[in-house]
Amino acid sequence: MQLLLDDDLVEGATFLCATRRHDIPSTSIRRFHQSREKAYSFLDPDERQEAFARVHQEFFQEWGLRAALDSGLARFQNLQQHLMAAAFRKARVRTEEGADLHVNPDARRRAIVALLPERMASTDRLDPFLNHELQHVSDMVDPAFEYDAEGVSAGASPSQQRLVRERYRLIWDVTIDGRLGRCGFATVATEAERSAEFERAFGFLADRSDRFVQLWEGDHPTHTEVLSLARDPRGFSQTRQIEPGAPCPLCGFATFQWIRAADISAVVLGRIRKDFKEWHEDEALCARCAEMYEATAMEGLPTTIEL
Ligand SMILES: [Zn+2]
Ligand SMILES: [Zn+2]
Repeated sequence: MQLLLDDDLVEGATFLCATRRHDIPSTSIRRFHQSREKAYSFLDPDERQEAFARVHQEFFQEWGLRAALDSGLARFQNLQQHLMAAAFRKARVRTEEGADLHVNPDARRRAIVALLPERMASTDRLDPFLNHELQHVSDMVDPAFEYDAEGVSAGASPSQQRLVRERYRLIWDVTIDGRLGRCGFATVATEAERSAEFERAFGFLADRSDRFVQLWEGDHPTHTEVLSLARDPRGFSQTRQIEPGAPCPLCGFATFQWIRAADISAVVLGRIRKDFKEWHEDEALCARCAEMYEATAMEGLPTTIEL
């Protein structure tokens, strides 16, 4: 696995280390500034840029920043096996930080981790973040987790999709921080903090404390488990009942307004049957799905529902 570093991150991190880290010998910091002075002497802008990049790379290595990233990666053994590269780039703001997995057309995978250069100036801020984000990546490449990015964006409307994504993220974070803690790895949130977040998001579940403990103490969550809890926390989909608050078989969201097949036009029924092979006409669907199918059938447009 290759380690790729973005020049902006390397520059930002070495600069902050030169001013903030007290464990670096002052002679080394002096050499850093002298080398930068020398780089200024190149008249050709490209050559100057290259000279700066070389200086920053050299001190990034000398001050152990590269080693810190390497040892973070080494803590997750399956990354070595499943990733072609791990790329670290500079995040400009906190909300931009995080890890993502990119898959090439030839199925080779690389992790991209965006982080603030400030994190690299102290191991206290770097390690918990790296562990948490790399555990996300480690899950995504684990065949047993069966990650599927598209499934996370399920739901009939944008607000439902957002809700599922937020819940999915939180449930996954709970399992990640629980597992990391048990392995003795530092992470970004404590059990009390995650429990409070879970309480806010799933306050409507009577058994929420038990659910939280199961997630926090659980060992091998799968994408499907996380997603089904995010989409249907009350477990309605097993019951298949047409009653207030049960989930619509199409979009999976709780509905209080059911539309029966008998009240739907033949054209619309045909479209629903085409999209949802398992849907039977003795079932019903939610008013929102019915409305969307009616509207798109009228306009002859494809429906935008995805499951
Ligand atoms: Zn996370
Ligand atoms: Zn629906």
